[in-house]
Amino acid sequence: MFIVILGGGVSGLSCGIRLLEAGHSVEVWARELTPHTTSDVAAAVWYPYRAWPQERVIAWAKRTYTVLESLAREQPSAGILSVPGVEVFRRHVEDPWWRDSVPDFRRARADELPRVTPPPTDRFIFDDECEHGIAYVIPRAHDCILGGTVEEGNASLVPDAEAARGILARTAPLLPPGAQLNVVEHKVGLRPGRPTVRLEAEVFGERVVVHDYGHGGAGVTLSWGCAEEVVQLVSAHAR
Ligand SMILES: Cc1cc2nc3c(=O)[nH]c(=O)nc-3n(C[C@H](O)[C@H](O)[C@H](O)COP(=O)(O)OP(=O)(O)OC[C@H]3O[C@@H](n4cnc5c(N)ncnc54)[C@H](O)[C@@H]3O)c2cc1C
Repeated sequence: MFIVILGGGVSGLSCGIRLLEAGHSVEVWARELTPHTTSDVAAAVWYPYRAWPQERVIAWAKRTYTVLESLAREQPSAGILSVPGVEVFRRHVEDPWWRDSVPDFRRARADELPRVTPPPTDRFIFDDECEHGIAYVIPRAHDCILGGTVEEGNASLVPDAEAARGILARTAPLLPPGAQLNVVEHKVGLRPGRPTVRLEAEVFGERVVVHDYGHGGAGVTLSWGCAEEVVQLVSAHAR
């Protein structure tokens, strides 16, 4: 089939790759290309964050984890790193619903918690429960992302100095004491979400439209799993 993909972020591009591999002819049409998409702003860590429904999200996330892990192992030039991470809580919590997607999932030992010992910088740390918001530190191949904010309904893409100061204050306890930071840039992105991810085919006369959007804070995490389901939907409608 000849397929036009609307959007050149992680969803459109991973669908494009899988559709090409399946033998389709593909064109990507997009208003913005990299580095100007939301996907370029994402910290791009695997984590099923603010995306629903759980039963579909878990299947997409699990599949994406497998693909990312094999890319990290077999294609270092893809820029994907496999690093450990810690999520900290101030109270007892049950294991997360996505735990079976991560083969090496385990509860952290006390000596691995950032407030107990100086945390290393070769792992990522999430703190969803710190005072005044969320905090995360995500070391990557060439930089380290400090975040972030969650403000439902705020659609501004302009960096906010107050928000940046808040992020630096909240992430300071997660960094090694005395860490020298060279802030390279401030980035703002939106996490367009909806009650559930929309991944379905719709027929308009002779044309089939496959929707794949509304991944909230997890578009990278769900990318390959969703792309492969898109290919299945396209195949089901191919004549
Ligand atoms: C600060 C932040 C941190 C994040 N961190 C993570 C993370 O660590 N892990 C994770 O999994 N997810 C993360 N996310 C979420 C993730 O970034 C998104 O879910 C994902 O990038 C969405 O990808 P997409 O391809 O669907 O959309 P986008 O990357 O937004 O791409 C949309 C494409 O569609 C084009 N387009 C839009 N409208 C039109 C139009 N009318 N006509 C033509 N083209 C159009 C755009 O120009 C663009 O090319 C984060 C998001 C933010 C904001």
